[in-house]
Amino acid sequence: MFWEEKIETLPLDRLISLQEERLRNTILRACESPFYRDRLAKSDVSITRNISMENLCRLPFTTKDDLRQNWPYGFLATTKDSIVRMHSSSGTTGRATVVFHTLNDIKNWTSLLARSLYGAGLRRSDVFQNMMTYGLFTGGLGFHYGAEEVGALVIPSGAGNSKRQIQLMRDFSTTAIHIIPSYAMHLATVFDELGIDPKRELDLRFAFVGAEPHSEELRLKIEDFYGCQAFNSYGLSEMNGPGVAFECPFQNGMHIWEDHFIAEIVDPQTLDPLPDGEYGELVMTTLMREGMPIIRYRTRDLTRVIPGICPCGRSHRRIERIKGRSDDMIIIKGVNIFPVQIEKCLMGIRGVGRNFLITLITKGYIDEMVVKVEYENGYDASLDTLKKAILEELRSELLITPKIELVPIGTLPTYEGKAVRVNDERNK
Ligand code: ADP
Ligand code: ZN
Repeated sequence: MFWEEKIETLPLDRLISLQEERLRNTILRACESPFYRDRLAKSDVSITRNISMENLCRLPFTTKDDLRQNWPYGFLATTKDSIVRMHSSSGTTGRATVVFHTLNDIKNWTSLLARSLYGAGLRRSDVFQNMMTYGLFTGGLGFHYGAEEVGALVIPSGAGNSKRQIQLMRDFSTTAIHIIPSYAMHLATVFDELGIDPKRELDLRFAFVGAEPHSEELRLKIEDFYGCQAFNSYGLSEMNGPGVAFECPFQNGMHIWEDHFIAEIVDPQTLDPLPDGEYGELVMTTLMREGMPIIRYRTRDLTRVIPGICPCGRSHRRIERIKGRSDDMIIIKGVNIFPVQIEKCLMGIRGVGRNFLITLITKGYIDEMVVKVEYENGYDASLDTLKKAILEELRSELLITPKIELVPIGTLPTYEGKAVRVNDERNK
C-alpha cells in the first residue's frame, strides 16, 4: 500500500521539523537566484535566518507575474550546466512560465509520482496508457517516469487521436489510464460511436484524472462508464507538475506530499493565513527543489485542507478537490460562479450528456449566461422536461437564471488538453 511507508506515515511533529529543516535549506538555495537574492534581501533578514513554520507567513509571496517578469532565468538557483530539463505551464491564463530541473529534481518528482500511483494501487503488472500531451506540458513526462518507476508497462500514447487510443487499449489490455477528465468524457462518446463498451471489453482498473477542475459527479460518471476507479491528481508546473497532491484508495481528498512541499491556505483578499477547514487560496513552497526553488507561490487555486486524519494511515494532510482558480470565477449580475458548480449540477441530472459550454453575452445593458448542454441519445422526446430539471438545479445552485440550450451529443467543442468551459462574449 505504501511506496515509502516511513515518510508517508511520518508522525506530524516529525513531519513539521523535517519541513522546517528543509525550508531553511530552501531559503539558502533560493538566495542563489537573482530574483530571491533581491526579494529576500528586501524582507526582514532575521526571519530568513530563523525561519519556522510559525513565521513563514512573514516571508513575501511569489506570483505568476514574478515568474513572467523574471523569465526565463531569473529564478535559476544553480548554474545552467546543472539543469537537465525544462518544462512550462500550459499558458491557460497568459504567457506560459518556465521551470528548470536538475537531475535530482527529476528523480524527486519521479519518486513523488511513483508514491502517488503505487498508493492508489498501480503495480508492476499494470499496463499504463498515458493520454497526456508529451513535451513542455508536465502531465506527459511526469506520469511517464512515475509509472515506469513503479514498474508498470507504459504506453506513451500522448493526447488525442481517440480511435487509436481505443485500439491501443484493446490490443494491449490497458489496465490504467491517465487522462484529462473532459477528454475522458469525449472518449466515452467515441467508444459509443464504435459500439464498444469498456466495462465489458476492457480490463481497466484505474483512471488517473487531473489537470483541470472537475466535480465528484463527473468522477462518478467516469467510474461508471469505464468500470474502474478514478483518482484525482493535482499539480502545477511551478511545483513540478503532477505529483503535488493525490488521492489514496479512500478517495476523500488529495494528500499533499508535505515532505516536498509546504502548503498554506490564505484568504485571497487579505492574504492572511487560514486554519485547516477553511476555504481559501492554496500557497505552496518547494522544499527539495535545486534548480528553481519557489517560496510561497500563490497558485490562485481555491480549496481547503480537510481537517482530521485519513484512515489510510498517511500523516500528510489532504486538500479538497479544487473549486477553480480565482481567475476562472465568473461574475455575473453580482454573483460569483465557478464553472465546476455548473458541471456538478449538470452531471447529476439523468439525460444530460457529457459536455457543456457556458457563454456570457450582453443583451442591451444586461449580462446573460447561456449554458449549452448536450443531452444523451434517446432523450429527444422529453427535452422540455430535461430543460426544466436543469433550470431548476442551476437556479438553486447559482441564484441566477441562466438560459439553457439543449444540443445533441457530440455537438460542442472538445479538447485534447484542458477544456475551455467559458466563452465570454460580453461587452467590456
Ligand atoms: P497553467 O497554470 O497554465 O494551466 P499548468 O499545466 O501548470 O499550467 O496547470 C496547473 C493548473 O491546473 C493548476 O494550478 C490548477 O488550476 C489546474 N489543475 C491541475 N490539476 C488539477 C486538479 N486535479 N483539479 C483541478 N484543477 C487542477
Ligand atoms: Zn489517505
